[in-house]
Amino acid sequence: MTMTTPSPIKIGVSSCLLGEKVRYDGGHKHDRYITDTLGRFFRFVPVCPEVGCGLPVPREAMRLERDGEGVRLVTNKTHVDHTDRMLSWCAKRVTELEREDLCGFIFKKDSPSSGLFNVKVYSTGMPAKVGRGLFARAVTEHFPLLPVEEEGRLHDMGLRENFIERVFAYRRWKDLLKGGKTVGRLVEFHTAHKLLIMAHSPAIYREMGKLVAHGKEMPRDELFHRYQELFLKALALHATVRKNTNVLQHIAGYFKKELTPEEKGELQEVIGEYHQRLVPLIVPVTLLRHYIRKYGQDYLLKQVYLSPTPQELMLRNHV
Ligand code: SF4
Repeated sequence: MTMTTPSPIKIGVSSCLLGEKVRYDGGHKHDRYITDTLGRFFRFVPVCPEVGCGLPVPREAMRLERDGEGVRLVTNKTHVDHTDRMLSWCAKRVTELEREDLCGFIFKKDSPSSGLFNVKVYSTGMPAKVGRGLFARAVTEHFPLLPVEEEGRLHDMGLRENFIERVFAYRRWKDLLKGGKTVGRLVEFHTAHKLLIMAHSPAIYREMGKLVAHGKEMPRDELFHRYQELFLKALALHATVRKNTNVLQHIAGYFKKELTPEEKGELQEVIGEYHQRLVPLIVPVTLLRHYIRKYGQDYLLKQVYLSPTPQELMLRNHV
């Protein structure tokens, strides 16, 4: 695939996860996986909304409280309401973040400002885990296509693989846009990503195929807009073992004539073992890569599916 020079991959991160002592108690929540592993591939844009909106360190802890249909950000003991201060800072900060060209965001879980999922909302009785931190909400509303996750969920290997793969995919897509919106470049991009999309959603894959095939018949901006939406929507769906197995069999179909009976047998055995979850995805993919090199399959050689993220991240060693 023809690409412009790859841009650095910038992701927003809640500052306390990077080890910055910005928490209400003066501490941090340093996450070594983010700094030591992801830090080798991503450039971080730290954001602490509570310090950003002018609150001191240390400060009184706060929480979300139910207010009709909405929520308010209120300190636990003295009940000072910081909602308006936080919301006006969020509106300004998300606009500034447009300049950062972010490809993802990792939020600190459970925080009334930064938590993405299931943040406690207090009302009468037991708090309900149904909220989203005010800053996390501002980011997801302002950048609806941005891949976002929480650090806690990144310990789940499937969620980790999905999030990081989406971050890299979003960077490639943005690089494509930077190089200019031509139908030829879109076709090239789509061709390289076909199997990756298929592994996430065969239905959206078919829809995208039709869209690209009729690309010349519609205004360029509309084409790219619709493609982007489908591409990111597809990748947000999980590539399950069943869907990956279908893609692996699809790839194996390209070698029907070339493989010796022993090679065919070995390949089917390894795909079967993956299907039964006896070996991780990296095992059949490595064997397929070997045959692709050996038999020189040009179309397959260019498939992002075979190497969607740097191997050093070892994401497919665990799914
Ligand atoms: S969770 Fe968010 S608001 Fe709280 S310390 Fe971390 S970055 Fe700041």
